[in-house]
Amino acid sequence: MGHFIFNDTHDTLRAEIRRYVERELAPHANEWEEAEYFPDSVFWEMGRLGYLGLRYPEEYGGSGLDYYSAIVLAEEMTRAQSGGVGMAVAVHAEMATPPILKFGTEEQKRRYLVPAVKGKKIAALAITEPGAGSDVSGIRTRAVQDGGDWVINGSKIYITNGVRADFYLVVTRTGDDQWGGLTLFLVEKETPGFTVGRKLKKVGMHASDTAELFFENVRVPDANRVGDVGQGFYNIMWELQGERLIGAATAVAGAERALEMAMKYAGEREAFGRPIGRFQVIRHKLAQMATEIEAARALVYTCAWRWQNGEYPVKEISMAKLFASEMACRVADEALQIHGGAGYMLEYPVQRVWRDSRLLRIGAGTDEIMREVIAKQMGF
Ligand SMILES: Cc1cc2nc3c(=O)[nH]c(=O)nc-3n(C[C@H](O)[C@H](O)[C@H](O)COP(=O)(O)OP(=O)(O)OC[C@H]3O[C@@H](n4cnc5c(N)ncnc54)[C@H](O)[C@@H]3O)c2cc1C
Repeated sequence: MGHFIFNDTHDTLRAEIRRYVERELAPHANEWEEAEYFPDSVFWEMGRLGYLGLRYPEEYGGSGLDYYSAIVLAEEMTRAQSGGVGMAVAVHAEMATPPILKFGTEEQKRRYLVPAVKGKKIAALAITEPGAGSDVSGIRTRAVQDGGDWVINGSKIYITNGVRADFYLVVTRTGDDQWGGLTLFLVEKETPGFTVGRKLKKVGMHASDTAELFFENVRVPDANRVGDVGQGFYNIMWELQGERLIGAATAVAGAERALEMAMKYAGEREAFGRPIGRFQVIRHKLAQMATEIEAARALVYTCAWRWQNGEYPVKEISMAKLFASEMACRVADEALQIHGGAGYMLEYPVQRVWRDSRLLRIGAGTDEIMREVIAKQMGF
């Protein structure tokens, strides 16, 4: 990649991951998209190779690398040719498990984080509910203390890895205070009263499993509470910054894949006696796409550098998530357009990037919410 945030360790890691993804994942992309699932063994193997714990401390089975290693993984996963596979891995390694490391007890780290890093247990993050998505303070799934336990009732929706997960990090309401009344719990799949509902049909990200979850008097011990009572909102907002930055990195790399497809097609397809890439209109489209990708990448890498150096740049991370997601959708749309009718055919992979990219503007905070966060940070 040649960018200054990466050193030789990152370059070696990138080459290794790329080899794995191109050999072991990409050849199965069509089959997994068709099946709307991919085997859990992908997690087992990625755990064995150390890819699920790149930036986790060695004492918890991780590789002890820096934040940039997570960016490398997110970027290379776009070569799997199935956004759903990359998303499932990102949710496991970069969304559901970081709060356990940051806010969890030693026992929780041993019981959940270590097997997750090894790929032996799969994790999901359950925030969204039928009545509360953008507005996390509207969460109604309630946890009520009963002796040394908590009893959870409610439901969640659109949960990635929802079907396959072994455990779920769940945001619940434990008090009436709008922001200060939320608390996080770890819930194991086998817990009585917990059920996985429908596996939901989606526009894209087909290989990932997205589910409804139901909690009916689900009893968990206080030992499964992650962080302090009432700190759930603030802890999940911390988590969302990391999630948004990884999402932004994925958007940039996904756009790059779309550009590669468009360039290849523009060089091969002939119309009016010449390759279409020789028409100035098409060449300028490609130039514009490449320029937008570089601009988004610069924003993402700057945020990654600031995060790695101990800053918490909420405004700029929100900008990176917003700009990269909208850019990825524009680039994927232009890439499809350059393919003409072929772009609309399922046998050409560009349509999958186009469909998968659309989620970027919704998941982990919509475009509208990113603009709200940015405006608030600007004092408006
Ligand atoms: C494929 C997929 C996977 C997902 N995976 C997960 C997961 O693993 N875990 C999880 O917890 N969630 C997950 N989600 C849920 C996702 O995070 C939410 O869908 C998203 O946050 C938006 O919430 P919502 O769908 O309730 O939309 P709503 O909040 O109802 O928003 C509807 C519209 O109103 C707009 N809007 C809302 N509030 C405002 C405002 N204040 N100002 C301006 N506009 C506003 C929104 O931007 C949007 O355009 C997933 C979603 C999808 C589609």
